Amino acid sequence: MQKRSPIRKCVGCGARRDKIELLRVVNNKGEILVDPGGRIPGRGAYLCPNMECFDKAVENQSLEKALRFEITDEIYEKISEEIKHD
Ligand SMILES: [Zn+2]
Repeated sequence: MQKRSPIRKCVGCGARRDKIELLRVVNNKGEILVDPGGRIPGRGAYLCPNMECFDKAVENQSLEKALRFEITDEIYEKISEEIKHD
């Protein structure tokens, strides 16, 4: 039997997908980190790894709302680089 990973919702498009298909961004004690491995503790938000969802999340500030933290341009830059790297 195949083991399924949990379902998470993309903060960009709102689609529910398998956790492993999404890019995790985490608020680790006030530091926003990109967590492709999903191992960093803290409040997390998920994004489909594409620029459309990223742009939507920036526009709607949905990452900030999900993480309850102000996200600087520098952090957004880091996240977009991670998506492009994929
Ligand atoms: Zn999405």
